[in-house]
Amino acid sequence: MTDTAFVETLVAEPSRSVRQRAPLVDPFQRPITYLRVSVTDRCDFRCVYCMSEHMTFLPKADLLTLEELDRLCSAFIGQGVRKLRLTGGEPLVRRGIMTLFRALARHLDSGDLDELTLTTNGSQLPKYAAELAELGVRRINISLDTLDPDKFRAITRWGELDKVIAGIDAAQAAGIRVKINAVALKGVNENELAELVRWTHGRDMDLTIIEVMPLGDVGEGRLDQYLPLSMVRARLAEQFTLQEIDYRTGGPARFVKVVETGGRLGFITPLTHNFCESCNRVRLTCTGTLYMCLGQEDAADLRTPLRASGSNNLLDAAIEAAIARKPKGHDFIIDRRHQRPALARHMSVTGG
Ligand code: SAM
Repeated sequence: MTDTAFVETLVAEPSRSVRQRAPLVDPFQRPITYLRVSVTDRCDFRCVYCMSEHMTFLPKADLLTLEELDRLCSAFIGQGVRKLRLTGGEPLVRRGIMTLFRALARHLDSGDLDELTLTTNGSQLPKYAAELAELGVRRINISLDTLDPDKFRAITRWGELDKVIAGIDAAQAAGIRVKINAVALKGVNENELAELVRWTHGRDMDLTIIEVMPLGDVGEGRLDQYLPLSMVRARLAEQFTLQEIDYRTGGPARFVKVVETGGRLGFITPLTHNFCESCNRVRLTCTGTLYMCLGQEDAADLRTPLRASGSNNLLDAAIEAAIARKPKGHDFIIDRRHQRPALARHMSVTGG
């Protein structure tokens, strides 16, 4: 079926909408209301902490079709998921991606979904921001680790800072709220983070700083990249007054208010702080594998039950069985004895 025909079918067949149940609850009494979906493992950047320079990507034939991704996401919404984030790889380089956004937006219209959003490197936003806003996307996360064009090129290997800034401009012009995510990198952007705070807050954007996680072999020693956020925070506290606030996005970030700028600053510290107790999310890959935890290997194959039948009975049962084995938490370790990645798969596979 062509992309256009697929969307027309969804509109014409009310049975494609979902009948939503109460959220699934995992063995640790956490309701699962948030699904992150990696729609492609490909990206137009090659960030040094995320991918090796010469990545081998999945053969295109292994990817779920847009229609299958829609069916899977809709099944999760039927099981009580209220927030959906498309990620990758770079979600906006997946061919026909706006067709999927348009199809999923029907769940916003029906009230079954509270939020449809994405995490992006921003490079394609000049092209897509207006359409995303029109479909009901209200806030997005854009990854940006530095404001220095040369450093930006060195970190992303293939990216251009100008294009990302143009993407941020386009999103804001379309009325979408932007949060910037920056990974703290030892010896690379550690002296720039205060400037990033001023810049993001000056443009009415929140900033979240993320600790490097040991995912996938990227061809560089993790110890060389790792900068504990306790150190970042202590240094920022020399320049700014960081006020504890209650603000939570339902995710792992802990926020403070920066008194001097009036803006919000989040810290995601998977290595120095365990954030699993309130975890409400699961992650789906573009081949239909469900990871119940970003930091564990256990996964459930949803592609087989999806393809086995046109009805969702098998799929629903597989989703329920997977949530019933969601682990309590992860234990990433970076130290001199653990130079290898804690997990073999890259963030671009699981969906960052
Ligand atoms: N391409 C999109 C982007 O750039 O935001 C979405 C996918 S990317 C994998 C999502 C986020 O994961 C980015 O903010 C990126 O910086 C972060 N990330 C990737 N690898 C990471 C790692 N090893 N540790 C911490 N964050 C990582």
